[in-house]
Amino acid sequence: MQLLSIIYIISSVTFILGLKMLSNPATARKGNLIAAGGMSIAIIGTIFLYKDDTGNNLHNYGWIFGGIVIGGIAGTLAAKKVKMTAMPEMVSLFNGTGGACAALISIVEFDHIYKANTPSESTWFSDVVPLGHFLPIAAGAIIGSISFAGSIIAWGKLSGNVKDHSFKGQHIFNIILLLLAITSVAYAYDANMNFANIPFYITVLLALVYGVLFVLPIGGADMPVVISLLNSFTGVAAACGGFLYDNKVMLTGGILVGAAGTLLTILMCKAMNRSLLNVLVGSFGGSVKGEQQKTTGNYKEISINDAAITMSYSHKVIIVPGYGLAVAQAQHACHELEKILEDKGVEVKYAIHPVAGRMPGHMNVLLAEADVSYDKLLEMEQANEEFKSTDVVLILGANDVVNPAAKNDPASPIYGMPILEVEEAKLVIVNKRSMKPGYAGIENQLFFQPKTSMLFGDAKGVLQQLIAEVKTL
Ligand code: NDP
Repeated sequence: MQLLSIIYIISSVTFILGLKMLSNPATARKGNLIAAGGMSIAIIGTIFLYKDDTGNNLHNYGWIFGGIVIGGIAGTLAAKKVKMTAMPEMVSLFNGTGGACAALISIVEFDHIYKANTPSESTWFSDVVPLGHFLPIAAGAIIGSISFAGSIIAWGKLSGNVKDHSFKGQHIFNIILLLLAITSVAYAYDANMNFANIPFYITVLLALVYGVLFVLPIGGADMPVVISLLNSFTGVAAACGGFLYDNKVMLTGGILVGAAGTLLTILMCKAMNRSLLNVLVGSFGGSVKGEQQKTTGNYKEISINDAAITMSYSHKVIIVPGYGLAVAQAQHACHELEKILEDKGVEVKYAIHPVAGRMPGHMNVLLAEADVSYDKLLEMEQANEEFKSTDVVLILGANDVVNPAAKNDPASPIYGMPILEVEEAKLVIVNKRSMKPGYAGIENQLFFQPKTSMLFGDAKGVLQQLIAEVKTL
């Protein structure tokens, strides 16, 4: 067996091992490094050991290493400089670049075939390229372009620079766009060689427009589903490159990302109570339909002192972390509060909503960083069972994931999404900085309910004051 094939097998094993280790916070960092190591030897092996059909090694080393140096520096700087709160945006951007790479591979391959066979009097594209070779080119171009354009819009949305946008009949328009892209790439395959490039590039353009239009209307609280779907698209597009070059490691990597992304999408769809078909045509969530229920009434506040006393003399406290906890970087303070409450005999647990934060698993990662024990984390269904026997729910920077509008306001963009039913507990304390809405941009009736008390301030500052207060009791 060739050395390069052995390297590819080792790399594929590291990817699988790395993925497995990522499923546990204790081994995740090591798993990431192992998979990155596998990817590095696959890249180095390909550069120096790959031989084409005529037995020639790769050339163009200047371009290859130039790209690696520029990409390596940009990636390292971006990863070092990015704030933890901007991580989801960066993940989206990196996912988009993966999609762009896959689309570019298809474009370059198409161009090779096109240039090698034109001008031609009577050659048809399908005469030169077997269908089995053209299909990965076509799929890589379409899926990669959708993933690139969609991820860029998702990046803009997560950073708050791109707003939800839709027009009447957009989902029908999106389906037509997708069908046109498929028709035009089929036409490219069946076209005279001299003109095959035109429908092919039209296909790429249509896929890019589809990518923009399918993500643009999706908002409200539905972005997590789209993000994981785009992730799986990039994996599938990369796997097409693997087919194209008969490169086993690219194929394995692409399939793993595609499969993991698809499973995550299905889980997110379940968590959000959405249908996958609706996600694909970009016709759910987002802009508000109809008249939303108005929030009325007054809210009441609680002092640090009262909150500390109430929690200290409780039997059971459940903390609900949300995006604001990540913004405030208050995970360590949160863990400290948990410990001192437990020293006082209070049972403390965390309720984790699957889409809390701004990326799948955001709260798990955040709390793991502060060494919060994994067995204290309750999944949504478990938490909803336990709220009934809970004295105090302390909400730290969460909003949409506890918004009752998801249950009782059909006009709300988050309607139908299962939420943490915190109002089942005896008392709810909500910490945030103001009465401003969360990601979905809607008001929250929970804040006005009689059981709820607001504790305003930055989560870290508030937690530090709570810790100091609880210590004196
Ligand atoms: P939300 O975005 O609904 O609410 C966060 C709240 O935190 C805000 O209301 C804000 O209020 C408060 N906040 C911000 N900074 C601070 C701070 N420093 N201290 C205290 N509070 C703060 O967050 P949730 O976690 O409840 O919900 C996540 C939302 O994001 C959902 O709509 C979800 O669909 C969406 N989303 C999730 C993704 C995922 O993969 N998990 C991806 C993309 C979107 P104030 O400004 O008043 O302080």
